[in-house]
This record gives sequence, structure tokens and C-alpha cells, in this order.
Amino acid sequence: METQDLQSLGRLSYSLFGDWNQALSTGERTLRTIGLKDGLDSRAIEKAALAHLSRAESIQKESFDLSTPFFRLSALNRFLLAANHVEHWSYARIARTLELPAEAIPPLLWRARLQYIFDECNLALAYPSGGKLASSHCPIYDATDPWTARLLDEEMKPQERQFLQNHMVACDACRNALGRVRELIHAIDALMPSKQCETWVLDEMHAQARRLAGSGMTYGRSTLQTSLTQWSRSPGTWLGIGLLLWAIVRW
Ligand SMILES: [Zn+2]
Repeated sequence: METQDLQSLGRLSYSLFGDWNQALSTGERTLRTIGLKDGLDSRAIEKAALAHLSRAESIQKESFDLSTPFFRLSALNRFLLAANHVEHWSYARIARTLELPAEAIPPLLWRARLQYIFDECNLALAYPSGGKLASSHCPIYDATDPWTARLLDEEMKPQERQFLQNHMVACDACRNALGRVRELIHAIDALMPSKQCETWVLDEMHAQARRLAGSGMTYGRSTLQTSLTQWSRSPGTWLGIGLLLWAIVRW
């Protein structure tokens, strides 16, 4: 298990629970439970994050600090924003965590971004519309899943990215559309509360990683496999089995 993964879980859980102490203690408990079955790796972190999301969804809204616009968002929207803007998880990883198809993620993330900036923060930013198509070469702008966001999230195939980059050299409308989304994304980056991770939190995350590793659960299922392999490879084991068989035959 990478300490980096553990830190991701800590920050995602803070975004869900709004409290570092709760995020850290719930994280360790969940990982111990999951680790017993599947081993602690990146996938375990994703399973733990999903478990925390379900838990956060059942918490009353009033329990959060509602003076912070971020905590007025739904648990799902907080998770999507933290996974993308703080952890830089790909759409595929977010989809795997949420057990959704990958194509479901960009529209959900886009809606969460708009809601955060325009409904909750009321920022006076230019609304990231696609503008008028300047020519027949302009990419189609889907207002629920714009190409501009996919491009900035680095979620485009190299040929598509190359086409758009070449197109924008000559097309002001598309370049401006991209500029508006870039501003929106930068504004969200700056407004993510889980980015401000205090020193004691980081210290606790390191201590947690040591505790989890020390509990022998770092490899979960594979620890059992390793011990079985070692047992079967041991000459003493085979000598014992041989003697037992000999005794049975003699008897
Ligand atoms: Zn264009």
C-alpha cells in the first residue's frame, strides 16, 4: 500500500465527512475491515472511498459546517470534485470507484463543477458556454459534457487533442470557450477545502500507514498465500507427510 493512496483516502473522506478526526479514524477502520478480505492496495482505497460515500450520504445536512459552500453540496458532488480536483483521479478510476460506466462520469462532474461555482459560491465568473460555432470545423459543444472540460482533464485521445489544438490556433470562439472552462477549473482548484491538509493530519496518516503495515494486513490475502507456499516448500513438511504415510502403510 502506498502512503500516497492512504493520503488520498484521508482527503476524500475529509471531503465527505467535513472532519479530519472522523475521516482518519473511519479510514483506518474501513481499511482494516476491507484488508481482511482483499488486501490493501489501490483497489482497497477505492472500495473504502465508496463505503465512506454511502455513509456520508446518510449524514444529515445540518451536521456539516454549512457556512462553507463546499459542504452544502451533495456527498456525491463533494466526492467527484475532490477525486478530480485534488486527487487527479482519471474518469476511469472515479467510475470504477463509484461502480458506474466511465461515460457517466464527465456529465456528473461537469454538473458538480457548475453547481459549486455558480449556485454555492456565487462567483462572478463568465459562464462556460460553448459560444456560437464559428465554422463547420468547430467541435460540437455539448453543454452537459463539453469537450473543453475533457480536454483540460486530459481525457482525450491524442488525435482528438491534436485536432482541437490545431483548430484553436485559428478559431477565437473555441479558444475563448476553452479559456472560460480553464478559469472555472482554476477557481474550483483554489476552493477545495481538503487541499489544506495540516501537519498533524499528515503525521497521523503516516502513523496509520505504519500501523496498517505492522498489523500484517498490507498484503491481505497474499500473506496467506505466501505462508501456504512457504509451508508446502518446507522440507520438514514433506518429511512429516512421508513419515505419516509410512506409518499408515505399516499399520
Ligand atoms: Zn471553433
